[in-house]
Formats: sequence, C-alpha cells, structure tokens
Amino acid sequence: MTITHDFTGQTVVITGAASGIGAASATAFAAAGASVWVLDVDAGRGEAVAADIVSGGGRARFLRCDVTGDADVEHALGVVLAEDGGIDVAYCNAGIGWIKPVSTTEPDEWRRVLDIDLTGAFLVARRAFLAMRPRRSGVILFTGSPHGYRTMAETSAYAAAKAGIGGLMRALALEAAPHGIRVNSLLPGAIDTPALRAEAELSGDAEDAVRRWGAVRPLGRIGRAEEVADLALFLASPAASFITGAELLVDGGAMAAQPAGL
Ligand code: NAD
Repeated sequence: MTITHDFTGQTVVITGAASGIGAASATAFAAAGASVWVLDVDAGRGEAVAADIVSGGGRARFLRCDVTGDADVEHALGVVLAEDGGIDVAYCNAGIGWIKPVSTTEPDEWRRVLDIDLTGAFLVARRAFLAMRPRRSGVILFTGSPHGYRTMAETSAYAAAKAGIGGLMRALALEAAPHGIRVNSLLPGAIDTPALRAEAELSGDAEDAVRRWGAVRPLGRIGRAEEVADLALFLASPAASFITGAELLVDGGAMAAQPAGL
C-alpha cells in the first residue's frame, strides 16, 4: 500500500470478513488503526482472522453473523454499538458466487443467492445507516461486481444480485447524503480469493483457468484481495470526501476493453 490512511479511533464493521476480500480489508483497516469487527457465518476462519490481526498488534473481534437474518444482523450491530459506541464504516461485502444459467437455476437456489448477495447487504446497510444517522457521519461500502453490467449466461442469479447492489447503493447514497453519510460500491474483477479458486476448480484445470482470466485483463493478471482493500480504505477515508453514489472498478482494466468478437 503506498497511500496511508489513519482510522485510529474509528469502528469498522466488515461482513464476509473471514475470507478473501473481507479478510484483507479487515487486516488493512486494523493496520490503519481501526477497531475492526469481523462478521461472518464461518466462525472458525473468522476467529482466525481476528486472532491474526490481534497478534499483529491490531484491534479486531469476531462476531458470528448470517447476513440473511435481520435478527442476526440486529444482534451483531447491537454488540458493536454497545462495545464501541458507534459505527464509522460498514462494509457490506459478504457474498457467494453462482454458476448456473437461468434455465437450470431452481427457484430456491435463486432465492438463496439473492438472499445472501443482495438482501444480506440491504439488511446490514440499513441497520448501519440507522446507527450512523444520529451522528451525521459514516461511510457505507458494498462489494458489487462488473457482472452487474456485463456477464455470462452461467452467472444468472449472481449477475442479478450484483446489478441490484448498484440500485441499492445509489438509492441509499441519495437517502444518506443529507445526513453526512457517503455510500459507494467497489466492483472487483477476478480477485484471487478462495471463492475464485473454487470457481477455477470447476473448470477442471484450475491453474489454467486462473491464467486465462489473468490474460484477458489489460494488466495481464488477476488481482489480489489487498488491492481491493486499498480501494476500500481510500473510499472510507477523507480523501474520498466528495465521492458518493459511485461504483469504482478494481478489475485490471477488463471493463475498458471491447469484448472479443465485437
Ligand atoms: P470468499 O468466499 O473468499 O469470502 C466470502 C465470505 O463471505 C466467506 O468468508 C463466507 O463465509 C462469507 N459469507 C457467505 N455467506 C454469508 C452469510 N450469509 N453471512 C455472512 N457471511 C457470509 O469470497 P470473496 O471473493 O472474498 O468475495 C467477497 C465479495 O466480493 C463477495 O460479495 C463477492 O461476490 C465479491 N466479488 C468477488 C470477486 C472475486 O473475483 N473474488 C469479484 C467480484 C465481486
């Protein structure tokens, strides 16, 4: 990281922080001085991420939270508020991928993806906004995806959920702006995380898939979770004080390129 931000004295809540982009963001916010709350359904990995941060001298605590349940979200954010007194940054990042076209996606499968990737983000953002509003400050971030714009037939429910994140983010940005709260989305593209590796495995030759996904990007490689975390810290910092309602790509230039064949 070449830019340093100071989050000393700030409370940062990150969902899906037991792994990948969320874990890297938790580590980066803690290194920048924040009190970080690692929220995830995966208690084993979530506890480990928090313990790693603490052993490195940072401040982090794990809370088990399934973002699809409003009671879970209310409880988790209630613990954060009781302990830290407020929330400065809420990063709604938890999500799962989906590889099936519309025709073979069962209605219950569709609902599950939308539940985690879209409704879960809504539930967390809503309660974070309600907590931030009386203090007239705060930043809410979402992890969207370039798949919300351009996608493949197989990513059906995921593409729909991520397009929905764009609408949710813009609506909340407009509602939150008069209260001094900024709201933005990060759009990461092909970032090396356990979720991406699991998708690569589906193709039979995971290393080849990762190489191909890197090769189609103008920068010639897939990204690192830490590179997404850098953007999250920037967006949450005063350096982004005039940025709200925006979607920022961190995709190695992929969306800038004309798709092959056009
Ligand atoms: P990951 O699988 O490494 O991490 C996702 C985390 O979310 C996991 O720890 C998982 O346990 C957690 N999670 C899943 N369901 C949950 C629930 N109901 N409640 C709470 N936590 C839950 O994946 P990642 O690649 O780091 O993805 C993080 C976010 O980034 C997701 O929203 C994903 O859609 C998005 N994204 C990733 C990429 C990429 O290339 N990796 C690209 C675009 C967008």
